Amino acid sequence: MERHIEEENQKHSNTSPEPLVYRQADSKNTVVNVNGIEIGGEKIVIIAGPCAVESKEQLLETAKLVSSAGAVILRGGAYKPRTSPYSFQGLGEEGLKYLSLARKESGLSVVTEVMDTRQMDLVCQYTDIVQIGSRNMSNFPLLKEAGKCGKPVLFKRGLMATIDEYLMATEYILSEGNNQVILCERGIRTFENSTRNTLDLSAVPVLKRKTHLPVIVDPSHGTGYNWIVPSMAKAAVAVGADGLMIEVHSKPGDALSDGAQSLYPKDFVQLMSDLDKIAQAVGREIFHH
Ligand code: PEP
Ligand code: MN
Repeated sequence: MERHIEEENQKHSNTSPEPLVYRQADSKNTVVNVNGIEIGGEKIVIIAGPCAVESKEQLLETAKLVSSAGAVILRGGAYKPRTSPYSFQGLGEEGLKYLSLARKESGLSVVTEVMDTRQMDLVCQYTDIVQIGSRNMSNFPLLKEAGKCGKPVLFKRGLMATIDEYLMATEYILSEGNNQVILCERGIRTFENSTRNTLDLSAVPVLKRKTHLPVIVDPSHGTGYNWIVPSMAKAAVAVGADGLMIEVHSKPGDALSDGAQSLYPKDFVQLMSDLDKIAQAVGREIFHH
């Protein structure tokens, strides 16, 4: 192992035992397997869908369109972490039911967020991947539950977290025996306010160097505006992301959450075709069913 990586890892070695999250000299990349879709392998996996599950019709329509454009995993929140308690909070279990219906009709696997330890069992009954959002990156009891849930976990970087804080939080999941963790860069809070967050694309190569886990990028929450999402999605693939998570809405103007950053279907279709070329340029390809 290169010396400075060894030194970086050394910083953590007084917390015994040795953290599982860090890459060791001989560690192979961890590949997360979701119904045969390998995340962290050769191919790049595209997750797409609305910010929130809003209705059965909305979800089924969006599932169909993202699937035909080439996405293989459907996203959609049933429990939404909103800034204001008066904003739409998600449909709860009803939303989970629509997700499993969309899963059945489209053949897509699904990912949805869990916000509370008390929802873990219920959410796991409906989803293929459990998402833990940025606001809960340091909710250690929730992370431990995710470590015991038996499902792959999509774990997002906190708004103010350094990469090492993020990785030690990931350790809470791994230490419970679950190594099926997908890391997700989704932008951090900086002084810059031209975008909703500052998408830290340098986190991708840094994370790939420090850990064996797959790393994906969410350019939607990372930027906050749909006009910038395709550029940053392409850049993310160019810097080595193992996948992307992108918000798509059939009518962004009518979305109950995050409309401004949601792609129009036609722009998602165009992006998918552009991504094939970027992936090829970096010696990879987009995973298609
Ligand atoms: C989301 O992906 O639905 C979400 C709320 O994202 P984040 O936790 O990154 O804000
Ligand atoms: Mn959102």
